[in-house]
Amino acid sequence: MEYREEKMMDQLYLKNTYLFEIDTQATECKKDEKDRPYVLLNQTIFYPQGGGQPCDYGKMIGSGFEYTVHDVRQIGEEIRHYIDLPQNSMQDFQGNCVVKCIIDQDRRLLNARYHTAGHLLGNIVEKLCPNLKAQKCHAFPGESYIEFQGKEMPNEPLLSETLKNVMAKNLQTKIFEMDRRQFESTYYKLPYEIPETKKFRIVQIGNYPPIPCGGTHVISLAEIGEILLKKMKQKNGILKISFGVK
Ligand SMILES: [Zn+2]
Repeated sequence: MEYREEKMMDQLYLKNTYLFEIDTQATECKKDEKDRPYVLLNQTIFYPQGGGQPCDYGKMIGSGFEYTVHDVRQIGEEIRHYIDLPQNSMQDFQGNCVVKCIIDQDRRLLNARYHTAGHLLGNIVEKLCPNLKAQKCHAFPGESYIEFQGKEMPNEPLLSETLKNVMAKNLQTKIFEMDRRQFESTYYKLPYEIPETKKFRIVQIGNYPPIPCGGTHVISLAEIGEILLKKMKQKNGILKISFGVK
């Protein structure tokens, strides 16, 4: 897992998973090294792909135009909203205007359900098998898996049963901020570098150990629906569990 700096002020998806529409200021329209046009915004509800989670799709509507946002990436300080811009229309759209942004609500919620399911599976497996440590979660719908470092193999019926019982409790997710020192003195030592004094965003399901995360999460586990355990494979000290939600 890696640390991606998040700025709570203008990345509105960090504050509210359910904010699907805003009016904001487009500040610039630029092209990347592959000549693909992208827009920078003052504030954004679009989640940029990363942390094992796909980006949001949506629309950007302004006076006399409507663009499809088909990719969103965070490159350094920029959150790039890639738009379908007709050829030669760069001159017409320089940015610097008010735009209405609307994200694809179904896609956002599906991604948040998958992503939250990945957190929960990580929490449950680590609790059942303390020698396993979650190290990677790929929560793309249809191809989701979580990987753990360690040679243990969870007992599958026990894992399924535990998952079912935890889901029945409909635990809530909490989001809060702490700096590294506070976090490590309260919870556990982080296995990767985070600047010492910067506050970072943390997610916690129920009373499970919290983890730093910049993804989008559903508030209550009931919103996930059902988590399906698909396959468990142990290879070279890495346990891979494939899962889905329905
Ligand atoms: Zn997360």
